[in-house]
Amino acid sequence: MTRRTDTGLRHAISVIERMLLTDPTIDTILMRCLHQLMALLGSHFGYVYQCRNSESESVPWELTGCYQFDSGVFRELANTCTSHHIPPAMQAKLISGRCIFDDGLETPLHPVPHEHPDIFNYCCIPLVDARRIYAVVYLCNVAGGFDEALENRLRPFIAAASCLLRAAEKKNRFQQATPSACDIAAYPELFLDLLDTMFNGVLVVNEADTITLCNHAAASMLGLPRREVIGLPRSRFLPKGAPRLQHRLDLNDNPWTAAARKTVWRGVPALTAAGKKFLVDLSAFELNEGEQVLRGLVMDDISERMQSAADYHATLQRFQVLTNLAPVAIVQLNREWECTYANDTWCEYCQMTPDEAHHIGWLRGLHTGDAENFLDTLRTETAVSGKYEGELRLQSPLGRVTWVKANACSLYNEEGETSGMIMTLSDITDRLSNERRLQDIAEKDQLTGLINRAFFNDRVEIALKGVRRFGYVALMFLDLDEFKHINDTLGHDAGDQLLREVANRLRDTLRQVDTIARIGGDEFTVLLTNVQNVRGITATADKLIAALASPVDIDKRPIYLTCSIGIAVAESENTDTKQLLKQADVALYKAKEAGKNQYKFYTPELDKNANLHILLRQSLKETGRRDFRVVYQPQVDASCQKIVGLEALARWSHPDTETIDPQVFIKMIEETALINDFSEWLFEEVFSTVSHWLGASDPEISVSLNLSAKQFRNKELASFIHHRCRAHGINPRKIVLEVTETALIDDPEIAANTLKMLRRMGFSISLDDFGTGYSSLLYLRDMPLQCVKIDRSFIRRVSHDDEDAKIVSAILALADALELNVIAEGVDNADDKSWLLDHGCPIQQGFLFHKPLEAREVENLLHLSPPKDNVVSFGGRVG
Ligand code: C2E
Ligand code: CA
Ligand code: CA
Repeated sequence: MTRRTDTGLRHAISVIERMLLTDPTIDTILMRCLHQLMALLGSHFGYVYQCRNSESESVPWELTGCYQFDSGVFRELANTCTSHHIPPAMQAKLISGRCIFDDGLETPLHPVPHEHPDIFNYCCIPLVDARRIYAVVYLCNVAGGFDEALENRLRPFIAAASCLLRAAEKKNRFQQATPSACDIAAYPELFLDLLDTMFNGVLVVNEADTITLCNHAAASMLGLPRREVIGLPRSRFLPKGAPRLQHRLDLNDNPWTAAARKTVWRGVPALTAAGKKFLVDLSAFELNEGEQVLRGLVMDDISERMQSAADYHATLQRFQVLTNLAPVAIVQLNREWECTYANDTWCEYCQMTPDEAHHIGWLRGLHTGDAENFLDTLRTETAVSGKYEGELRLQSPLGRVTWVKANACSLYNEEGETSGMIMTLSDITDRLSNERRLQDIAEKDQLTGLINRAFFNDRVEIALKGVRRFGYVALMFLDLDEFKHINDTLGHDAGDQLLREVANRLRDTLRQVDTIARIGGDEFTVLLTNVQNVRGITATADKLIAALASPVDIDKRPIYLTCSIGIAVAESENTDTKQLLKQADVALYKAKEAGKNQYKFYTPELDKNANLHILLRQSLKETGRRDFRVVYQPQVDASCQKIVGLEALARWSHPDTETIDPQVFIKMIEETALINDFSEWLFEEVFSTVSHWLGASDPEISVSLNLSAKQFRNKELASFIHHRCRAHGINPRKIVLEVTETALIDDPEIAANTLKMLRRMGFSISLDDFGTGYSSLLYLRDMPLQCVKIDRSFIRRVSHDDEDAKIVSAILALADALELNVIAEGVDNADDKSWLLDHGCPIQQGFLFHKPLEAREVENLLHLSPPKDNVVSFGGRVG
């Protein structure tokens, strides 16, 4: 009970005081006191013990009532109390006028009704005055507990109650003594005493309506000394003809009729002596004084109460007007999360009436997708900090969605317990749609509307976290074949159109749950989650390839497209996004290499190559780095052991890797855009090294260089070679270009033309690895060749393998017929050498004679001094 509930205390006192005028029995008074105190202190149930005035030592403290107060209703409890008496241990303190209260219930005896729930606190309030104790009110489970401050504030109530009890007792005694008479005159002094202890004002008037008696409280209400009030007409303070109040009797009516006496006139205007208006609740009583009838009026000044009611009303109205004017939705919830107030804006957002929002109706305004999560967070956050801030959607019954920012704040009651909350919700739909547009730009590829690389990577990361729980995660790297060509020939607009169409087809092919991104030019990535087996992945890859198979119409022209796909599968959470992307990239590369328009899965073996690629790129890009060099393998006339030629062979050594077969790294370089730079470097290196060897040795030597299929087809390389050759003062006749069968048979016509052009420039052409391909010697007849090199695989066993011997014999015969020179490659033993000599093949190359040699070893061998400047770093001179 705090200051604010003092109004309640006033009321309780007033109720008790009014009983003075209605001649109540002691039991009635006790019951009323119990009720008032229970209501006032929020106690659930209580008892009252009457203390009879006895001359004897022990005071009988008899239980006279046991009541329960539940949901605003008093109920008399069956007499189930265990104790009918206040234990003597407690009596002394109560007699001295002090309350007893206890939260711990350490008092040895307290009455506990059997069927009643647990008692967690109690208080004993003695109704006592200076003379004696009249009764004890015993309250259980006082809401908010009981303390000394509360005890002190109850003093006026206790005074009024004990005064009433004393009067009732005295009257009892008097009646017992003289049962025939009941006359106020018998105890006027006591009567005045009593009147003066009252909070309420009492006026007694005679038949002329003149005031004959006035208690202390009435005098102070009217603002005059008591003796000046007496003798004045009642109408001076309580004017007749006061406005008729609703449902209430007018003072023009006789307030002392039997019916009127039972009535309390509420809010009757009264005047002070100075003419100031105030409001009272008025009730009337009649007392007989001998022949005379005294008529009394009890005035309960309610101005203060009315003022606080008016204040409350004004505050409420202000709150409602403000909340309805505010451009935000406002709802108030009670402790049970029921809506007790919803303003117009809330009703507008959710398309409901305030009535529909009441109780749990407001929950229907929450978007079904957000409700559960929102309520959870709201509960936890308000419990922790008393506040909540978040975003959610509201919905109308027709499905209109409003995005709102919600701010909630807990409300507390006087005891500091949460009593509910107020929440404001402001519309942020516009802001969010702007934000979403920005987010779109950040997350999406603007050309195709697919998500971009950064966002895709995020998705992969998330997917990888769930790998084990939901199945495999597969990442596909998809690259359009020959897109650059299409883009270059049709123009960029057509290219864009094509990419958009590709995006659409991919999107249409995939499931909703799959993620697809464009991560650069013509590169797309696809993320498949929850994959259960490989078949699911291959089926998707097949579908994607098929989706691109039908031509795309660009400017009414059908454009045919294919794509290659690399696939990496993550089976454990240990795989990280970067790794998975790299694996898919490696697999894509493999698919391209295998002829495009297909998919390949990543396998760990592919990794080795992937690493090499990286290292090779390093070597190629870092100018001045001497990772590349050239060695020279002599070609010998076996009949006289003289060197007749040198084959230039490239070498690559990177500190981070073992020696890699030139066939392998050359092929890799060819797959990069750097192959031309590399070729130019190689020719420059060789020419600058060998220029002074040529012609300086005896017999004169030639130098062979290998041209891969790709190098061979580059016409600019041919003219570059020619140009550099001249620049180094080298006669092209001294230079042999070795090409393989495969380089020729891809497109025999173009090959023949290129060879003719090189031939015209003066270069000799040698057919390398002869016998390993499938080409017919007959069509080779049409190529301008000067020499064939019989492949090492035939030479190796020629002296002791009849089959090989036959093939080599046949090749030698044909070459002879076509007037081609022959070199036997890979001669590494004397038997083979002899066999070849015997069969008319003196020009031989092989480890039997020499391994590939460093330039200075060649110079030693040829007895030459090194050139002044033979250091050429790759990338430094050419381009
Ligand atoms: P190739 O053109 O057939 O070169 C001959 C290869 O046979 C060389 O291997 C050489 O070391 C090896 N060889 C020679 N005699 C013997 C022998 O008695 N026994 C054995 N076991 N091997 C012998 P290398 O240098 O490893 O080159 C391999 C291939 O790499 C070459 O085959 C060629 O196709 C390619 N290559 C090397 N350098 C270049 C280059 O500068 N440009 C191009 N386009 N390809 C090159
Ligand atoms: Ca060769
Ligand atoms: Ca060869």
